[in-house]
Amino acid sequence: MTKNSHYLADNQTKEIHDLSNPVMDCKLEKINKEHLIFLQSNKELKEYLEKGYDGCPFCLRNHSRKAKKSS
Ligand SMILES: [Zn+2]
Repeated sequence: MTKNSHYLADNQTKEIHDLSNPVMDCKLEKINKEHLIFLQSNKELKEYLEKGYDGCPFCLRNHSRKAKKSS
């Protein structure tokens, strides 16, 4: 077990969740396993954000375009 950052991307909603900071509102258990992508590093996180994924407004606010819009 490593203490690296781990993220979970949902390729259906194009949202990325931070597994080190789980929030009930994420409803991770509702994500279909077929759509899950595990990201092992911040580098991967960045790559996915550049691909058009958005951070979850609950657990990954820093990277969420949605969360930033509503001030
Ligand atoms: Zn989340």
